[in-house]
Amino acid sequence: MIMKKIALIGCTGSIGRQLCEVVRSHKDKFAFTALVAGRDKDGLDALAREFGPKISCLSAEIPSHSALFADCDVAFIAAGGFAGLRYTLAAIEEGKTVALANKESLVCGGELVTTAAKRKGVDIVPVDSEHSALFQCLGMRRDAPFRKLILTASGGPFLHYGAEELKHVTAADALRHPTWNMGAKITIDCATLLNKGYEVIEAKWLYGAQLSQIGAVVHPESIVHSLVLFEDGAMLAQLGYPDMKLPIQLALTYPERLPCCGEVDLAALGALHFERLPEEKFPCFGLALRAGEIGGTCPTVLNGAAEVAVSAFLQGRIGFLRIAETIEDVLTKLPAERADSYGTLSRADARAREEARRLIDG
Ligand code: MG
Repeated sequence: MIMKKIALIGCTGSIGRQLCEVVRSHKDKFAFTALVAGRDKDGLDALAREFGPKISCLSAEIPSHSALFADCDVAFIAAGGFAGLRYTLAAIEEGKTVALANKESLVCGGELVTTAAKRKGVDIVPVDSEHSALFQCLGMRRDAPFRKLILTASGGPFLHYGAEELKHVTAADALRHPTWNMGAKITIDCATLLNKGYEVIEAKWLYGAQLSQIGAVVHPESIVHSLVLFEDGAMLAQLGYPDMKLPIQLALTYPERLPCCGEVDLAALGALHFERLPEEKFPCFGLALRAGEIGGTCPTVLNGAAEVAVSAFLQGRIGFLRIAETIEDVLTKLPAERADSYGTLSRADARAREEARRLIDG
């Protein structure tokens, strides 16, 4: 494999730091041309000293998108939140392969992103463990035929809680996530199952699936990362210990593979379990699917409201169940419009946040 040059947006977050570990362990295969951080200046400076990229800056100080992506082979978008969509669209405009770890790019901007990528002949490679698993089961192609895509979900920390218990859970309870080590926002999104709803929408855009062709099943061990059901009833799964370094690295090396993770000890594991996703207890999952079905600005409104509600929950200002209620109220208030540009989505995002803040503060 020839050396891959990477522009990393979101270098000090959880995914960004794990990508740095991957680059550290294969210095002859990967190099950074650009490192961008959101706010963590000290973290950024330390990484810039270690890896010596041509450009290193905070996102507020980016010179221009064309300069940012000029020298890279791959734009690795690991920035969190709606802000990540801007970088994904910019990288596509520069004709660069996108390794996509930012969920909002496809959840909010799925139509814009996939249309632009097609026009520019740019490849969007999934980094999320579930979508990477689907990619691997589909033979690392995104045009392979299938009957159904089945996402696995750890179920989050509150899977078996009753309705009364869910009223009283705190951010600290949610942040004790059972299997994956992630940032605070996405950990809460796992606890509400909003994250799984997002992943259904992402899979729809990545693999050209109908929402009715995508299912989700609880799998507490997080060993099976997702499955594909084919026309003849054959089902393929991808297994591995939960470690984001594998999908991160594969997004850069595919169709080749490099040493990364250890072998799953099947005999030591014993049983693997699967159970139905308890959608009725976690309304965020259904809300996400409904927003995905309606399309337009609807998923962006959902996401903007969710970011505000989750941040209020993390601050202890609202209870767990209020997250879904806030999202639903904002969705009712702001009807969907056509999502024909980044500007339209950005305005919908701002209005959703404003409305969510008003509901929470009022
Ligand atoms: Mg995931």
